[in-house]
Amino acid sequence: MFPEFTLRYAHLPSHFFERFDPLPVDSPRLVAFNRPLADELGFDLDAFKDQQAAAWFSGNQVPPGAAPLAQAYAGHQFGNFVPRLGDGRAVLLGEVTGRDGGVRDIQLKGAGRTPFSRGADGRAPLGPVLREYLVSEAMHVLGVPTTRALAAVTSGERVFRRVPEPGAVLTRVASSHLRVGTFQYFAARGDVAAIRTLADLAIERHYSHLQSERDEGGRYLALLDAMQARQARLVAKWMGLGFIHGVMNTDNTSISGETIDYGPCAFMERFDPQCVFSSIDEGGRYAYRNQPWIAQWNLARFAETLIPLIDDDQDKAVEKATASIQAYPAQYEAEWLAVMREKLGLATQEEGDQALADDLHEAMHAGHADFTLTFRRLADAIEEDAPALLELFNNDRALREWLPRWRERLTREAVPSDAIASRLRAVNPLYIPRNHKVEEALAAAAEHDDFGPFETLREVLAQPFTEQPGRDDHARPAPPSEQVFRTFCGT
Ligand code: AMP
Ligand code: MG
Ligand code: MG
Repeated sequence: MFPEFTLRYAHLPSHFFERFDPLPVDSPRLVAFNRPLADELGFDLDAFKDQQAAAWFSGNQVPPGAAPLAQAYAGHQFGNFVPRLGDGRAVLLGEVTGRDGGVRDIQLKGAGRTPFSRGADGRAPLGPVLREYLVSEAMHVLGVPTTRALAAVTSGERVFRRVPEPGAVLTRVASSHLRVGTFQYFAARGDVAAIRTLADLAIERHYSHLQSERDEGGRYLALLDAMQARQARLVAKWMGLGFIHGVMNTDNTSISGETIDYGPCAFMERFDPQCVFSSIDEGGRYAYRNQPWIAQWNLARFAETLIPLIDDDQDKAVEKATASIQAYPAQYEAEWLAVMREKLGLATQEEGDQALADDLHEAMHAGHADFTLTFRRLADAIEEDAPALLELFNNDRALREWLPRWRERLTREAVPSDAIASRLRAVNPLYIPRNHKVEEALAAAAEHDDFGPFETLREVLAQPFTEQPGRDDHARPAPPSEQVFRTFCGT
């Protein structure tokens, strides 16, 4: 019933992790299950029973063949290095091979105090579990590389944060849980052999096309380049959706190029490049507009760990790694422009496209316009100024100057307007996880054991590009009384 585990990480040297069985919970109840994902992973859905699932996905029963462990890692948190973080409340059950042949980690988050817990309780409250479930699945459907959510189980126990809350466990699926911080853990200990093992594992699992590179140094430099390309693409996608991760620490930077760790993340409504939601991000380090450059900073930390592998001549290694990191800005800009061309309905490339995209951003900023709906309603304004678009702007002067320029550019696409409109609607979502709607769903579940709003939101977000009758309230920005300005880790 549970797909077969292959146990790759558990067979690494013992100082890569601590063996740790999830601590049982009081009375597990399955509150969300991702059937399509379970099917992809090779679960036998016909034989599937909620009670069995609740036992597995709470950690009360270790599935056959699993070897649960907490991974060791370090990380820069808000720029400060912490040499030993590790999974303080997460347990890797093992790896499974999905029907597509891809290897995926299955991890329980909220599984109890591990040897890495550092004084915290090892548990997760229901609200943040459901938030990660909703947002990670929404990101996946929006085409963003991300960890996935397989199941959420309530524990029947209370966890104590600002107030007592119902406890829960999230089953997270990832291409792997290798992080920049995993490499840093060993770099901080001068353990070059371990870094080589990790780099080989990263290549095997995420960059297998590099395995044929015979020159060792060249292979590890290529790993850095390839990881950088993925981060550039990832962050460009975030920027194109108004997504703010909120905690871009190096321990939350996945080597696979997936979005990982949905804590205080949020989607921006009114466009503001300086937008910050996270209550713990006091200096605005992880503001919307900083994300591309924080990713580069994190890549530089990754590069540092690889220096011993890149060239025997360490000066040369530093030179090569530096050149690689310096290539990032141009790469990111190219990815961003590619995202923006799509969002503007452009399949061809012209010199002026960058300015066109920049100027729309300025118009949104000046007009306090909703980011998501502005792009969505461009499809209504291909031939003439659409009130639905203009009404999003409290000052539409810059937008009205911009629209004729865009239309003129579209004529050179040489495709009919309705084809442009379909292009636009296929990439610019109507529905995103709006913060107030997410909060509403979390509160209903956590305070009233009412999962109705969560289920509705799941349904809406499963088809973000398709207009869904009667769901207008999910497309609109928050009314002033419900605006969310701060998000909390809630860990
Ligand atoms: P996060 O903000 O979720 O990335 O967590 C940062 C670090 O703190 C990781 O090492 C986590 O495992 C650990 N951590 C976060 N919350 C808890 C908790 N409730 N109990 C134990 N460890 C935690
Ligand atoms: Mg984390
Ligand atoms: Mg977190």
